[in-house]
Amino acid sequence: MSVTAQTDALYRRQIAALYERSAFYRHKLRAAGFAGAPAVGGVAEIARLPFTEKDELRASQAAQPPLGAHAAIDISQAARIYSTSGTSGTPLYIPLTRADIEQWREIGRRTYSCNGLKALERVVTTYGAGPFVAGASLAAFEAIGCVHIPVGVGNTERLLTAIQKLAPEALACTPSYALHIAELAASKAVSLGAVKRIIVGGEPGGGEEGFRRKLESAWGAKVYEIMGIGDIAASLWGECPEQAGMHFSAEGWIHVELIDPDSGEALEMRDGATGELVYTHLAREAAPLLRFRSRDHARVWTSACDCGRTALRVRCIGRTDDMLIVRGVNVFPSAVREVVARFQPRVTGAILIRPRRRGVKQDPPLPVLVEGDAAVGEAIAKEIRAALLFTPEVRMVAPQSLPRSDYKVKLLDYSEAA
Ligand SMILES: [Zn+2]
Repeated sequence: MSVTAQTDALYRRQIAALYERSAFYRHKLRAAGFAGAPAVGGVAEIARLPFTEKDELRASQAAQPPLGAHAAIDISQAARIYSTSGTSGTPLYIPLTRADIEQWREIGRRTYSCNGLKALERVVTTYGAGPFVAGASLAAFEAIGCVHIPVGVGNTERLLTAIQKLAPEALACTPSYALHIAELAASKAVSLGAVKRIIVGGEPGGGEEGFRRKLESAWGAKVYEIMGIGDIAASLWGECPEQAGMHFSAEGWIHVELIDPDSGEALEMRDGATGELVYTHLAREAAPLLRFRSRDHARVWTSACDCGRTALRVRCIGRTDDMLIVRGVNVFPSAVREVVARFQPRVTGAILIRPRRRGVKQDPPLPVLVEGDAAVGEAIAKEIRAALLFTPEVRMVAPQSLPRSDYKVKLLDYSEAA
């Protein structure tokens, strides 16, 4: 990604603000040998700086409640405070100033416009307006001028009714929920009517070719993926009608890097490169983050898209958190699901990986539960070996027997792990 003079100026200003207002970054940067903002230099030298990990933010907030030593504002200057789902129990608070909220709305407007949403188009959404940052995306639909129909999370009957009565052209939800709705509608012989655009995000499935084809044929609609990251911005990436990866929507506000997740080395952004995405805020007021490790493993493209946009594109491969290593081979559960999906309609597309032991390193064969016709199990195992270079133990299970979710579907289950 080319760095403009404007990006560099914003970066330098953000670094100066971190030294001035964030005790966490002042200490962190000084400990790394950077006495002050001039020593940090420009954005071209960013790879010399330490990363920020999610765990550091949790520790910072626990040590200095309520917003943490990393926050660059007093709580009285916050206009809104979101929180994470807090899998470890305690939520992590994410404050935004009024300017931060406006910036997020503009990033979201760009993302959903990139998906093809237009003024006057009806869009039904299933995001909660509750505590999570996904709710911030709701403002983007009005910013575009859409007729927005929020039905909230987990309200499938209300969603089906809205599709029947209000005939929305677009739906925004998680890919697994979109599939669940399609399956339910088929079982009830309910028409999915006017929906021609399905915007999916919140989990990686929307980028998997097999899963996407299944969704598109079930709905008779086109699938466009989006991706956000709570600590950075909601709805940060959006796919255009070329369906060639998600375009970056925050140029000028957020700087993106690609790194090797094992060594932490910066990688060159070039067509086809893969690695972990790392983000730096350039103009965030409340809780600016520096080199934040997203744990999202992605493939990137820097060349211009056929749509004419030149913004960086990505396709998410999986979470580096979910990655397993089977005899030295990196295995992403979402990649396993993608291979399994090639066997549709003899499989439903749902899978669950049940490692035999805790931790990243696993011995083959790796147990993979697959919903579908038992006769196809051997062929799936062969295909996984050929495509992903590890040996699975494919266990076929009955359709609809694996857990479904209206938010994030879990592909890894350690309940049988020793
Ligand atoms: Zn494009």
